[in-house]
Amino acid sequence: MLEISGLVKRYGDITAVDHLSLRCHHEIYGLIGANGAGKSTTLKAVAGILDFDEGDIRIDGLSIRTQPLRCKQQMAYIPDNPDLYEMMRGQEYLNFVADVYQMDTAQRRRQIQRLAALFEMEGALGQRIGGYSHGMKQKLALISALMHDPQLLILDEPFVGLDPKASFTLKQLMRELCERGHTIFFSTHVLEVAQKLCDRIAILMKGRIVAQGTMEEVIGQQSLEQVFLELADHE
Ligand code: ATP
Repeated sequence: MLEISGLVKRYGDITAVDHLSLRCHHEIYGLIGANGAGKSTTLKAVAGILDFDEGDIRIDGLSIRTQPLRCKQQMAYIPDNPDLYEMMRGQEYLNFVADVYQMDTAQRRRQIQRLAALFEMEGALGQRIGGYSHGMKQKLALISALMHDPQLLILDEPFVGLDPKASFTLKQLMRELCERGHTIFFSTHVLEVAQKLCDRIAILMKGRIVAQGTMEEVIGQQSLEQVFLELADHE
C-alpha cells in the first residue's frame, strides 16, 4: 500500500530525513522518534504536501510526485496541529470535506452520525470551530479523516491532546480500519501506546531509521521504552 524508498529531505544544511525506506501494508505502522527526528517531515512528504530531494513515495504503486491526485484520493492526513477553518461550524466543515471526497448524502450522514457519537461531538457540530478546544478540533479533524474510509490513514501525533475516552475510541477505530484491510501510518512519542497498538514500527533518529520490524522483532523481551533509550544512548 505505502512504499517509501530512499527518501531524503533537506532544509538548507539540515538533513531532516536521510535515506529512509519502509513499506507498510494492511497494518498499523508506527514511526517513533525524539523531537526533531524527522517524523513530521516524513509524514508530510507521504501526504504530498512537502516536496523532497531524493527517493520516491508510492501509494498502491502510484508515485506521489507524478500522480498526486490519485494518491490523495486514497488517503487522509491529519497534521499534529490541525489548522481548520475557524469561521465554519463543525457540520459545515465535515460537509465540505465530504464534498471533496464526493461522498453521497446517505453515506456522509451515516458516517458523521456514527463518528460524532463515538467522539462525543454531536452537540458541538453546530458550533463554530473557532470556539472549539484543542481536543475538539482534533476530534473534528479525525472525524473528517475517517468518514470517507481512506485506504491509507496518516496521523501525526494523533493522541496528543485527546482525552482518555477519545484516545481509546481512536485506538479501536485504527484497529477496526486495519482489520478491514486498510493501512495506518502514524507518528508518536507515546511509547506505551505504540507498543500496544502497532503491528510494525520504525525508530527514527536524526532522520535515519535505526531499528525497524514487527514489534516483537524490534523489542524482543524488552519494553519499547528500554529499546528506545538504549538506541538513543548509542547515537
Ligand atoms: P517533533 O517530534 O518535535 O514533532 P519530528 O520528528 O516531527 O519532531 P520534524 O518536524 O520532521 O521532526 O523535523 C526534523 C528536522 O527538520 C528538525 O531538525 C527540524 O528543525 C527541521 N525542520 C523541520 N521543518 C523545518 C522547516 N520548515 N525549515 C527548516 N527546518 C525544518
